[in-house]
Amino acid sequence: DVCVLGSFMKDLVASAERRPLPGETLHGTGFAEFLGGKGVNQAIAAARMGARTAIVGTIGDDRYGEEFLDLLKTDGVDVDGVIRHPSLGTGVGLPLVLPDGSNSIIIVSRANAAITPDDIEAAAGVLTGSRVLSVQLELPVEASRAALRLASAAGVTTILTPAPVGPVDPSLAAYVDILVPNEVEAAALTGLDCDDESQVPVIARKLADEWDLRGCVVTLGSRGAYVLDRSAGVELRVAAHRVDTVDTVGAGDAFCGSLAASLAEGASLADAVRLANAAGALSTTVNGAAASAPSRAAASGLLST
Ligand code: ADP
Repeated sequence: DVCVLGSFMKDLVASAERRPLPGETLHGTGFAEFLGGKGVNQAIAAARMGARTAIVGTIGDDRYGEEFLDLLKTDGVDVDGVIRHPSLGTGVGLPLVLPDGSNSIIIVSRANAAITPDDIEAAAGVLTGSRVLSVQLELPVEASRAALRLASAAGVTTILTPAPVGPVDPSLAAYVDILVPNEVEAAALTGLDCDDESQVPVIARKLADEWDLRGCVVTLGSRGAYVLDRSAGVELRVAAHRVDTVDTVGAGDAFCGSLAASLAEGASLADAVRLANAAGALSTTVNGAAASAPSRAAASGLLST
């Protein structure tokens, strides 16, 4: 079983020819709504890989919160560990997308920012009853640390995606088994450059040493991924699948959710990365974040081609 601790973010996306000037009201050219947040995206990705999956996090007592519960239930994700905050609304993201595809984003964390170590304690059964716990850095670090510590003490395999990029509280390291940075996060954590292919193994080893990890997986976008499994003595460069990419949003979450699902089945880290590499690739062939996670059948199918 997989448990994901993470964020819920309702995205309200406006398109416009340009950014509005101060004081200006500008007519937009388009609008779309998406349900996302790294926690939700990873949980749905894990569930679609066939894992029994639960999510822990905080939403508001509002319409967006209802939308999330409906979406998660549709994919069979256990939502018993979702807390409904009585006064803060569900987290929202307000991206503005320009014609060249660039964007400016305002996020308002709202209920996501209110989760406390006491809430984590209350969800201890869900956290310690799973085989794998996946955590990102979109929630208050005290809550993330409490969850990682509880799970780690119970022998649950813990995965940390150090996203969004930024300084990482060093006190988390003691409770993390597997760290999964993307290129930007890996560079920020080590000061080394993933563009230089020869540096990628150096980065993985450096993080594994510094964090005393069981394994480190560096995701490399359209170049695939690198996996270091110290407990098995395996280091492997996995090439990306060639697919028709339309939207890379959520690729990392599809990858991590799939990784967690495979590890919960007892797969080796290298095999888990092979399936995750297929899941990440397929997620880029569909628009959206949570919505773009592929099925197990599709990911296995791509692997066997
Ligand atoms: P993030 O979304 O966190 O930036 P990446 O861009 O590294 O993460 O993508 C995660 C994984 O998804 C990659 O390691 C790879 O397996 C897959 N992936 C991402 N982009 C592509 C692509 N253009 N073609 C094939 N696979 C991709």
